[in-house]
Amino acid sequence: MFNLKNWPFLRQIYMVEDNYKQRGLRNKLVKKLRLKGIGDERLLAAIGKVPRHAFFDDALLIHAYEDKAFPIGEGQTISQPYTVAFQTEKLNVNPGDKVLEIGTGSGYQACILLELEAKLYTIEYNRTLFERTKAFLPQLGYKPYFVHGDGSQGMPSKAPFDKIIVTAGAPVVPTALTEQLADGGILIIPVGDMERQKMLKITKRGDKLLEEAFDYFAFVPLRGQQGWK
Ligand code: SAM
Repeated sequence: MFNLKNWPFLRQIYMVEDNYKQRGLRNKLVKKLRLKGIGDERLLAAIGKVPRHAFFDDALLIHAYEDKAFPIGEGQTISQPYTVAFQTEKLNVNPGDKVLEIGTGSGYQACILLELEAKLYTIEYNRTLFERTKAFLPQLGYKPYFVHGDGSQGMPSKAPFDKIIVTAGAPVVPTALTEQLADGGILIIPVGDMERQKMLKITKRGDKLLEEAFDYFAFVPLRGQQGWK
């Protein structure tokens, strides 16, 4: 029997509305991100629109608009807003871009990509999170193509992609991902050890891969065949 108690995220959609206070906190968060160097106005508008508090359990609700990562269950996290903004800005999403997100998690990043009018494919390794988020996002009006599986292998059946974003820390750049990039495509991926990872932007130009490296971030580990065992 379906019971809302077993679906904390669904329960919130009935209990938490997007009120004046939440919109105010979201505007403050957008201002903070702008001060931290995020300049893409379309992206800032998307962050100003997606109700981050809807992704939080009741106990953590008051923290929803802090610039911090928070637990979402299953030992995983919803990424810090600055991290979401940094990765998404580097991804340079144009309307209609075919985008692959690796690590659906709560679905928050997916909503930002959909607000940027990406044609979004998202893959999650953890079955509980996959099922929960697949049921929840359409309730907010967001409908990416959901897959449960090992995103370190990409999504070969749907390749090539204009953009690929990895939201978990990888030990290496998985070859499957660079292979599934379209010519001119961009891959954003944090690569390093379990504690911290350097954000890499890899652009495919013909048979060449151009790499740019940015700051260090701290992500939960990318699991799977080309991730951490
Ligand atoms: N994008 C997410 C969000 O907005 O909430 C961030 C989620 S969290 C930082 C990283 C996610 O990557 C976790 O949900 C984890 O289960 C998932 N993950 C780890 N390894 C994976 C893999 N090989 N394939 C797909 N998802 C993976």
